[in-house]
Amino acid sequence: MIHRDGSVLDGNEALASLLGVRENSLAGQHLGRIVPEGATPFWTANRSSTRGESEIVTATGQRLPIEMLSRTIPYRGSLATVTALRDISERRDSEARIRFLAHHDMLTALPNRALLTEELENKLAAATEKSDTLAVLCLDLDGFKLVNDTYGHATGDELLRQVAARLRAAMREGEFVARIGGDEFVVLQSSGTQPGKAGDLAQRIIAALTSPFDPGGRRVTIGTSVGVAIFPRDGAEPNQLVKRADIALYRAKHNGRGCVRFFDAAVDHEVDDRPQLEQELRDALAKGELSLAYQPIFDCVGKLVSFEALMRWTHPVLGPISPARFIPIAESRQLILPMGEWALREACRTAATWAGDIRVAVNLSPVQVVQKDLLSRIDAVLRETGLSHERLELEITEGVLLKDEEAACDVITALGKRGVRIVLDDFGTGYSSLSYLHRFRFDKLKIDRSFIHRLLHERSAQAIVKAIISMSRDLGMEVTAEGVETTEQMEALTAQSCHELQGFLLGRPMPGEDANRLALEHGAEGGLRELERLRTAMGGGRTEAVSAA
Ligand code: C2E
Ligand code: MG
Ligand code: MG
Repeated sequence: MIHRDGSVLDGNEALASLLGVRENSLAGQHLGRIVPEGATPFWTANRSSTRGESEIVTATGQRLPIEMLSRTIPYRGSLATVTALRDISERRDSEARIRFLAHHDMLTALPNRALLTEELENKLAAATEKSDTLAVLCLDLDGFKLVNDTYGHATGDELLRQVAARLRAAMREGEFVARIGGDEFVVLQSSGTQPGKAGDLAQRIIAALTSPFDPGGRRVTIGTSVGVAIFPRDGAEPNQLVKRADIALYRAKHNGRGCVRFFDAAVDHEVDDRPQLEQELRDALAKGELSLAYQPIFDCVGKLVSFEALMRWTHPVLGPISPARFIPIAESRQLILPMGEWALREACRTAATWAGDIRVAVNLSPVQVVQKDLLSRIDAVLRETGLSHERLELEITEGVLLKDEEAACDVITALGKRGVRIVLDDFGTGYSSLSYLHRFRFDKLKIDRSFIHRLLHERSAQAIVKAIISMSRDLGMEVTAEGVETTEQMEALTAQSCHELQGFLLGRPMPGEDANRLALEHGAEGGLRELERLRTAMGGGRTEAVSAA
């Protein structure tokens, strides 16, 4: 569309059909009739070009989200603005779908664990601010397993749907219910005089689930037990509150069915070895107990493209400790800064010795991303180790964007300019706003392994993976699927044109030297041969993991 002073001078056929008008009626139209009130205008003064998102109204009155790019051009003797528009309603739909799927349990449509975590963090922040209370209730159905085992999964699923419906109906204002797995549900209750109010809620829940259910036409009676933890009395951390409610639940179940128990520090013991580990982690780096393992990543025709560097801690007494356990400890104490820098240097040093142009992916903690001198540190490491910028990928999680969006945006842009590739890790498990996908230029998304795990069994996971792949294509990003464990998963993903695959099926994390050997083997024509080898090794239908090491 070419326009000047708020009226259209010219437009092409595509614009006419988008607006639902005839091409020859475009000229002379007022922009005010095309851009609805409140939407971003197509032109901002004093700038040579504007990019952004806005809305238009079609001839039938329908509002469409659009992406636009405006520029000043000379037109018939004076200046005018040319705006290119693209209909992004499909992209918006897939975003909304991804958001819903990522935050809800598809069986019952209740919020899932991801949404529970978000809600709990928000409610805790609000309660802290207002010096208010918050109750966390964990519930578990008595006798659910028996129903499932006796009547089968379909009946079990139907029962869960009926339970969910009753729980939803039992909630009042300020109460929130989520299903976090199997027959486990968590309820949050904000404000009120505790523990009285939470006790009432627990009784209300027990009463709601007492009368018989009729899944699949059968009459089934179950009950429920409830464990309660209360903020601030029983803790201030989201995980701790859920854990303590769960400990109370454990005691409730031991007391017989239909019981409510509150967490009681005097009788409920929990194993918390965090402080001890924290101290030992401080020394681990100096003592050389940390190492890196490298897991191969292949493209869809079986060519080895990169390795992800994964930190390992071999504790002198406890043996190997999972990074899922020690990284959060390191992050809470800024210990991650020296550890992360060590990992970066070590990974770049190792990758510089690899054959070919194989890249290395290093995980960055959100704590590192907002570190002031991160850029100069990365530059220094690359200079020191001789690895070129193009061979480094940095994996960050959505959490980064929440911490300090401005700072994160600057760092990501600066790294991108240097040729370092930025990867968004664990995609789909994070936060509800996906608008950052348009603001940050990621080179790649990694679909979280929980979706790949559910890929062949749950239609919702198929839908989400499909939506993520199509949306990424739309935004010009590559997609890696994490946690590929079976040939069936691999085939389903390649059929959907997923760009890259990573998982135990294709290769487990291995020492640096083994990674180098694999890179050498892969040399020039290695790609297709490797895929063929894998297919043969899998014998077509077997599903156990094959180690490439
Ligand atoms: P991540 O970045 O998502 O890494 C992938 C994880 O998936 C690794 O777990 C890997 O071993 C595992 N994995 C790969 N293929 C499969 C599969 O087919 N099935 C299953 N079930 N799992 C698979 P790992 O090594 O335990 O690391 C866990 C997390 O710890 C990483 O998740 C990452 O978030 C963090 N982490 C690891 N190393 C570092 C590091 O150097 N710095 C930081 N900040 N975080 C790290
Ligand atoms: Mg990663
Ligand atoms: Mg991941």
